[in-house]
Amino acid sequence: MLALLLKQLHISSVLYEIRNAPGNLGGALNITSNGLVVLDKIGVYEHLKQHCAETLDAEIFNKDGKRIGVSTYGRYLKKKYGYGTLRVMRTILQTKLLERLKEEGIEVKYGMKLTEIEELEDGVKVSFLDGTQDEGDMLVGADGIHSAVRQLHVDPSIQPEYSGLSTLYAILPTKDLVSPIYFADSFNMITFTRGAFGMVYVNPEHSAAYWYNSHEIPSRDRDGWIAHGEDANAIKQEIIERVSSITVPLVKEVIEKAPEIRFFPIYSIPLDGKWYTQKAILIGDAAHGIPI
Ligand SMILES: Cc1cc2nc3c(=O)[nH]c(=O)nc-3n(C[C@H](O)[C@H](O)[C@H](O)COP(=O)(O)OP(=O)(O)OC[C@H]3O[C@@H](n4cnc5c(N)ncnc54)[C@H](O)[C@@H]3O)c2cc1C
Repeated sequence: MLALLLKQLHISSVLYEIRNAPGNLGGALNITSNGLVVLDKIGVYEHLKQHCAETLDAEIFNKDGKRIGVSTYGRYLKKKYGYGTLRVMRTILQTKLLERLKEEGIEVKYGMKLTEIEELEDGVKVSFLDGTQDEGDMLVGADGIHSAVRQLHVDPSIQPEYSGLSTLYAILPTKDLVSPIYFADSFNMITFTRGAFGMVYVNPEHSAAYWYNSHEIPSRDRDGWIAHGEDANAIKQEIIERVSSITVPLVKEVIEKAPEIRFFPIYSIPLDGKWYTQKAILIGDAAHGIPI
């Protein structure tokens, strides 16, 4: 997003991505009016409006499906600013952003593992594992919660902290569901003693939905997380056991019918860290993670 905004100010940039190709990880993001304004400025919003679900209300239910509250913040935002809230599949957002980068001639270089950052008097120099080097006026670290820009340069003392909570999630088609759908076209959440279960449509036709459950999972090291994420059967059993007190039939059905359940440990960044130097700045999760 930033590269596209900079282009509008006639500032050129190159994106360096550690992965060898665009990833397909991720469920569906709730993007509210402030994010949608920016997406509109870079020519992405209209596309999202056509392919994603508008979810103006947030409904909260108890474990037996009784509605205990509703927040109409999306409705309020739309009335006040002209932009409400959209539930956006990450893959749709990513594909459109990459398309826009291509249209604007902004290069993305894949498979680039950052090894060194050096601040010069009039700019900054970066080196990568494959021997490539590049120089620019500024370096923006938008490289996520485990940011190499932060760890190599801006503030190596700051380490991401596991929040104690993880999220299990899936996206599935709705056409084969037989249980009653207990919510409207809103984002909805069932709060219960052992977690929070959310479910929401992700497209305007309501033919696909995203669900997640966030709950406590003990910390593991990197290899432990990878092993945990790869054990699909254990993940399914874990969530079935977790939500066993919920009596809403749809919940069990969507877990059973999920084509693939994915897993995400939630990390955060201590709030008192440094987020910039003379020539480098951190943005997004690299700087602040998501508030828990
Ligand atoms: C379960 C869950 C649900 C969420 N739901 C929402 C929501 O509903 N709404 C919302 O707004 N937010 C939500 N978030 C938060 C949101 O996903 C993040 O805040 C957002 O993705 C951060 O974007 P980012 O660009 O800073 O980092 P990332 O999305 O992490 O992107 C970082 C990029 O940098 C690359 N990278 C990493 N290391 C390097 C390196 N060394 N060199 C080069 N490239 C590198 C990565 O491969 C990746 O492409 C959720 C997060 C989680 C975990």
